[in-house]
Amino acid sequence: DHDPAGSPRMLHARHRAVLPDWLALYYDEPIEITHGEGRHVWDSEGNRYLDFFGGILTTMTAHALPEVTKAVSEQAQRILHTSSLYLDRPMVELAERIAAVSGIPDARVFFTTSGTEANDTALLLATTHRRSNQIVALRNSYHGRSFSAIGVTGNRSWSPTSLSPLQTLYVHGGVRTRGPFAELDDAAFIEACTEDLTDMLGQAGGDVAALIAEPVQGVGGFTSGPDGLLAAYREVLRERGILWISDEVQTGWGRTGEHFWGWQAHAQAGPPDILTFAKGIGNGMSIGGVVARAEVMNCLAANSISTFGGSPVTMAAGNANLNYLLEHDLQGNARRVGGLLLERLRAAAAGSVIVREVRGRGLMAGVELARPGTGEPWPEAASLVLELARERGLLVGKGGGHSTSSVLRVAPPLTLTVAEAEEGAEILEHALRTADTQLGGKNSQ
Ligand code: PMP
Repeated sequence: DHDPAGSPRMLHARHRAVLPDWLALYYDEPIEITHGEGRHVWDSEGNRYLDFFGGILTTMTAHALPEVTKAVSEQAQRILHTSSLYLDRPMVELAERIAAVSGIPDARVFFTTSGTEANDTALLLATTHRRSNQIVALRNSYHGRSFSAIGVTGNRSWSPTSLSPLQTLYVHGGVRTRGPFAELDDAAFIEACTEDLTDMLGQAGGDVAALIAEPVQGVGGFTSGPDGLLAAYREVLRERGILWISDEVQTGWGRTGEHFWGWQAHAQAGPPDILTFAKGIGNGMSIGGVVARAEVMNCLAANSISTFGGSPVTMAAGNANLNYLLEHDLQGNARRVGGLLLERLRAAAAGSVIVREVRGRGLMAGVELARPGTGEPWPEAASLVLELARERGLLVGKGGGHSTSSVLRVAPPLTLTVAEAEEGAEILEHALRTADTQLGGKNSQ
């Protein structure tokens, strides 16, 4: 049983011996990705994968995008890092670009190194501005894993402590597969939810800082409420001066196809007071950040720096990446190729009894699996489909509510081609069909 010291299996053993147990890994035999190009990655054993998850997770535009790689290496050769205590030209440039596309009037931008830290800053701004530590969040949400971000994360399986510096009120996130809400049509549902929010705010004494919400819940399984729900919530909040934080960590930069930002799908509500972003904007470099109206951003009295937030090498990546995605209209690509991919995924799922729903916007598609008959979440089925897809060279993600990751998350880089969309959908169709057979789903109806 030859298992060389450098093998992924040995690396897995070392990982488990020294890293936290809760640093979860995908796959029974986790893979070590060593390089990438375009929409593909390769593992240390030479296997090639079409990457249908990296678009959100790691590399928004494309792996090894020459424009970004070149900008990063040129900057790296000059200086890796200075400090936000000194003038930082790439930071000013990226802030100008982001302010211009944010849709927020009189926008100011603060850079962090992660989405968690961006949300932490947003919560700091909102609580300071409103002088309240009460926050409204959506059930099934995920906003990061700092002490404060966990405190507004409704998805318990990602929220390891219920202790929190914040007092959080959780309102309905809009997914209504079961219970009394399942019977209501959209308008009645929205009315019920806003009435509930109004009642909650009454009990909170009107002293609430902000609503934080993902326009499409990412980790929660690419779910969103009916159109109009967030706008209706917003209306109730605006009347009371409560701020709206839109967590665009997954939905920003054209990912959803129809819109550049997720909040624009709820545009009746106008722009958010605070917007947070992260993940893909650096195309693999760690950039996060907050955009807010000057009046909100400037409510902090103290001096502040972030040691690595806005570092020139990450800003070089952000500038090159943002230029590329605007010049190549990747939002349009997300709409066109994403639309086609969704159609193909629907067709792929049509014959499968383990699929409950295929949903999505742009290049953000969720395939929800459930036990036939009962409709119960089926995390084992999702894990099996993930393994089967991987065997055939396709990486996808998992998500979903509570401890039940039953939703396949499909989020390829924004440069996805039609041929790649078709190839990936075909692999997924095969995986679903094989899972149907292996799980005996067809017979258990
Ligand atoms: N907000 C959302 C919506 C996210 O999906 C994530 C990451 N999954 C975060 C915040 C946290 O970002 P990070 O992992 O960069 O801290």
